[in-house]
Amino acid sequence: MIVYDLSCDRGHRFEGWFGSSADFAEQKAEGLVSCPQCGSLAVNKAPMAPSVGKKGNQVLEVNGGTRGGPKGVSNTPMSPEVSAAIEKLAKAQAKALENSTWVGKDFVEQSRAMHYGERKHAPIHGEASVEDAKDLIEEGVPVAPLPLPIAPPEDVN
Ligand SMILES: [Zn+2]
Repeated sequence: MIVYDLSCDRGHRFEGWFGSSADFAEQKAEGLVSCPQCGSLAVNKAPMAPSVGKKGNQVLEVNGGTRGGPKGVSNTPMSPEVSAAIEKLAKAQAKALENSTWVGKDFVEQSRAMHYGERKHAPIHGEASVEDAKDLIEEGVPVAPLPLPIAPPEDVN
């Protein structure tokens, strides 16, 4: 198994997992290697990042599993199709939230106020604890978890 640092023609960098260098060439030739960020097929090997280790718990290191809280991990390489599917989902979620306002921790209060007519209804999204979300649902307030975690707007860039 080989991990390649790849980059597309727009300069996005990502990792690709291949059985061998021949596999990479073959999949690239068949148009199976695409940039997870923009879908570009103009993908090439980037110079090796010095921070990527060659042995040991490389899998955990590359996806950030050793930092922060517990994350789902797998020792099976994710194909470019998986990355592309996640990217599609992220775009779909962003589109669904296009007209929605990020209200952060005020979500619980605001969605409840809207439900009880104390506030004009408007699409909002934000943060709620599992307990708060359960309470809202029990009160009949329509809430649904977002399929992907979302970064508060102030954290983006
Ligand atoms: Zn790209």
